[in-house]
Amino acid sequence: AQEPLAETDPTAQALGYKADAAQVDAAKFPRHAANQTCASCNFFKAEGAGGSCQLFPGKTVSSKGWCSAYAARP
Ligand code: SF4
Repeated sequence: AQEPLAETDPTAQALGYKADAAQVDAAKFPRHAANQTCASCNFFKAEGAGGSCQLFPGKTVSSKGWCSAYAARP
């Protein structure tokens, strides 16, 4: 089974990933809007309770998460 992406993962840290988008540092990431979560990101694919992200192969991300690579699904 795939492991949940840890916020301490080096790539996750570099992208400011938070499993709970409400925890995103607004000062560091002013681009983050409250309505942005992995669930509406173009890199996200829903799987079970969470989903996978193209940027983090082999890991699962939280549908309520966010990182600075967020791209709205067209
Ligand atoms: Fe979530 Fe998108 Fe960042 Fe992947 S790229 S962690 S789906 S916000």
